[in-house]
Amino acid sequence: MKFYYDLHLHSCLSPCGSDEMTPADLAAMCALAGLDIVALTDHNTCGNCAAFCQAAQERGLLALAGMELCTQEDIHVVCLFPDPEHAERFSAYVSEHLPPFSNDPEVFGRQLYMDGEDNILGEEERMLAASTDISVEEVPALAAEYGGFAFPAHIDRPSFSLLGVLGLWDSSLNFPLAELSHSCPADFIRRPDLEGLRFVTNSDAHYLDQIWGAERSMDLPERTGEAVMAWLAGTEK
Ligand SMILES: [Zn+2]
Ligand SMILES: [Zn+2]
Repeated sequence: MKFYYDLHLHSCLSPCGSDEMTPADLAAMCALAGLDIVALTDHNTCGNCAAFCQAAQERGLLALAGMELCTQEDIHVVCLFPDPEHAERFSAYVSEHLPPFSNDPEVFGRQLYMDGEDNILGEEERMLAASTDISVEEVPALAAEYGGFAFPAHIDRPSFSLLGVLGLWDSSLNFPLAELSHSCPADFIRRPDLEGLRFVTNSDAHYLDQIWGAERSMDLPERTGEAVMAWLAGTEK
């Protein structure tokens, strides 16, 4: 069956994410947009994932818990987990690998923890959108240790992307899949170094009006977290 997905979304916990991106409003907007499968991927944290997954499930969506990890090389990698519990354990590990910088909400934006009913639970004081000391080559195995799957984000963009930083696709890093941004030119994937790679395209929405309608789909035997993870990994039957 065909399911419309968006697996890269930011909430108000990302400093660059709009304060309007509350877990509840984000889930409501995704449902309104006609999406079937969604994932919350804030910068270096899964802190709003439980609230988002609950709000999304209540609206009939399948929601995965995730994170957009920033590696020590300044490469963004989307990491997805089957449930908030696995994601939170991964998030606790990443938290120990963040630099001790404080966020300046005036300059970078607020970082709000919220429940699924639009209540503010607190504010993160550390700067979440910083590079961790985790190297890109560690990420596939590290995510898998927590039951997750990782793919480099927006590889066609010049900044914070694997190709922007490394210049060439390195297949020894063991990423079978990469994300293209919405504005990626159609002939980009004909680069010889990308041969054999599979791709997803997500919105990377930071504002409610950046959430797409039903545009990108995946074919799954059933709409479950396991089926999505297998589809991403290319191990589906
Ligand atoms: Zn990014
Ligand atoms: Zn992002």
